[in-house]
Amino acid sequence: MLKIGCHLSVSKGFYEMGKQAVSINANTIQFFTRNPRGGSAKEIDEEDVRKFKELAKENKIEVLLAHAPYTLNACAATENIRNFAKNTMEDDLKRMEYFPGNYYNFHPGSHVGQGVDIGINYIVEMLNEIIKPEQHTKILLETMAGKGSEIGRNFEEIKEIMDRVELKEHIGVCLDTCHIFDGGYDIVNKLDEVIDEFDKIIGLKNLYAIHLNDSMNTLESHKDRHAKIGEGKIGIEAITRIINHPKLRNLPFFLETPNELEGYGKEIALLRSKYEE
Ligand code: FE
Ligand code: FE
Ligand code: ZN
Repeated sequence: MLKIGCHLSVSKGFYEMGKQAVSINANTIQFFTRNPRGGSAKEIDEEDVRKFKELAKENKIEVLLAHAPYTLNACAATENIRNFAKNTMEDDLKRMEYFPGNYYNFHPGSHVGQGVDIGINYIVEMLNEIIKPEQHTKILLETMAGKGSEIGRNFEEIKEIMDRVELKEHIGVCLDTCHIFDGGYDIVNKLDEVIDEFDKIIGLKNLYAIHLNDSMNTLESHKDRHAKIGEGKIGIEAITRIINHPKLRNLPFFLETPNELEGYGKEIALLRSKYEE
């Protein structure tokens, strides 16, 4: 069965979020751990978590992917901003211990003119400070479109970060289809080659999740504007090949397309109809 879901809001609690997922036939869920612009997270309500877990079990919701606020920048030029990223991620990981065995995705960061090397140094330093041997959450580095000074614009940059993380069993990758297409990886015409390249550089065993998005812009545009499935430059045929690819088809997929709940429901139904059982 295709593991697919979408980005949902946890602002009304985990149980309400779970009910939304069930209503659109999703069996994965991504959510922002807090307001995407930062700020403090809601207190965990243990009863809410218990009810959510029951619902998830009944409905075979298998994977939870928490997404760090996208404004976090672990490699900012100012110490304040870097500390904020670190404290936020530490706090998020503490909360994720209520959901052992799931994933936490973050954008590596933007080096804002300091250069890739300095940026990567900061990211690695932060990861080595916050990753604990006893944690039960896998931290995923997201592949980025290379907008501005974003780090993670190619597989090599992601690989370098991973290589320098000490507790490697707690780190992995989330591949975003819109981002890598914008980054210059031609998943429309050369999907096999792109997957082979990923395998050669990062290793497919390190790939844990896919953000499934179409892109408003062309190959190598470095723009990062997500489109609805089938309405962008990647298109439904390429996306169908992606969800059915033997090396990807068992991974959890997460839609981050510009949709409300109803639109997500339609995309999930469409993609389920395209999946070869
Ligand atoms: Fe993201
Ligand atoms: Fe993404
Ligand atoms: Zn994006």
